[in-house]
Amino acid sequence: MALIVHKYGGTSMGSVERILNVAKRVTKWQKAGHQVVVVPSAMSGETNRLLSLAKEITADADPRELDQIASTGEQVSSGLLALALQAQGTAAISYAGWQVVIKTDSAHTKARIQGIEKDKVLQDLANGKVVVITGFQGVDELGNITTLGRGGSDTSAVAIAAALGAHECLIYTDVDGVYTTDPRICDEARRLEKITFEEMMEMASLGSKVLQIRSVEFAGKYRVQTRVLSSLTDPMIPLDVEMNSGTLITFEEENNMEAAVISGIAFARDEAKITVLGVPDRPGIAYQILGPIADAMIDVDMIIQNQSVDGKTDFTFTVPRSDYQRALDILKSKVQTHIAARDMMGDPKVSKVSVVGVGMRSHVGIASKMFRTLSEEGINIQMISTSEIKISVLIDEKYMELAVRSLHKAFELEQRP
Ligand code: ADP
Ligand code: ASP
Ligand code: MG
Repeated sequence: MALIVHKYGGTSMGSVERILNVAKRVTKWQKAGHQVVVVPSAMSGETNRLLSLAKEITADADPRELDQIASTGEQVSSGLLALALQAQGTAAISYAGWQVVIKTDSAHTKARIQGIEKDKVLQDLANGKVVVITGFQGVDELGNITTLGRGGSDTSAVAIAAALGAHECLIYTDVDGVYTTDPRICDEARRLEKITFEEMMEMASLGSKVLQIRSVEFAGKYRVQTRVLSSLTDPMIPLDVEMNSGTLITFEEENNMEAAVISGIAFARDEAKITVLGVPDRPGIAYQILGPIADAMIDVDMIIQNQSVDGKTDFTFTVPRSDYQRALDILKSKVQTHIAARDMMGDPKVSKVSVVGVGMRSHVGIASKMFRTLSEEGINIQMISTSEIKISVLIDEKYMELAVRSLHKAFELEQRP
């Protein structure tokens, strides 16, 4: 008997029929002798619907109220799942984050989990119940409901698995594992049986939304065995088949994603670029530009400072597209005063495409192959950033899918290494 955490995403919870299937699958695991905690997302489209209602009222909503609103989607799906389990004769109880308690900081809409109380959950499990816990939400020390950022149910699940010392965290979703790239963009994408934790971190941080980055961080920090697998198979498939399906995140170096040099391609479609022109090239200038951006909790990603000419330089950086206007507004008042720059310009229609692989450490020529492939497609590279195991380029949004597909082909990712 093992304690297992299941997480079901929006599509997996998308209708009453799907919820009944989830209940069947969970019941199957419990009947096989396991203790099961289930973390559902809101039904697909629900979080967007809730947030768009808020947007109809104001474009500048109070983040506390946004959390109050957005968190309800998970409460509904959790209650429905508990009912579906009970209807199938499986004892079940659902809890919201604050009832567990899942403690977070107060950074509304992107809160971080600080601790999870486990006694009540363990007690229920010991009493033979399936425990359903809302994904995506927690509560701060003042009792405010918080949410963990879009896609945050993954993080709830892995954090709960870590807190309970679960044997495994199974992330059930609408694809049957982690692929070499998003299968919706590239037909040739291939499922990976294993991916190293390090590579999964890069893939998630570079835009692969199959797992929220913080869930991967938790998996790494607490060594939670995590597997991504399909919720759309027959719920009654034999347990031993299901247990070995999907993609396992491994911590062993030698399992480096089936030993490929490049293991996957990630992309972030919604990026934006800001350039401050004619900046005096003196100490402190990067801080003067990026300090106020960081103070506004806007994540800066790629940064380039040009060679200075006559003591002036151009400074370019990227931010998520959703923060583009805010970043421009923050800098507008400072560009000609504090920063003493000549001007500022921006482009909100850029995307980032990255190739990822631990094999890069021991192979040369990956960057040149990437750049050659893009140039053969006539795609202009606007910015480049690299780490030991990834190379990212910023390009015009309209070439993003073409870039992903041509790189996938150039690195022969459709073939098993
Ligand atoms: P859920 O609602 O289950 O959390 P998400 O939509 O958040 O599901 O994540 C699953 C989706 O992630 C897939 O449908 C797929 O389009 C996308 N995706 C992006 N990159 C990858 C990848 N490398 N492998 C698999 N899926 C990916
Ligand atoms: N429902 C939330 C979202 O849509 C959390 C999640 O699905 O993981 O972002
Ligand atoms: Mg998700």
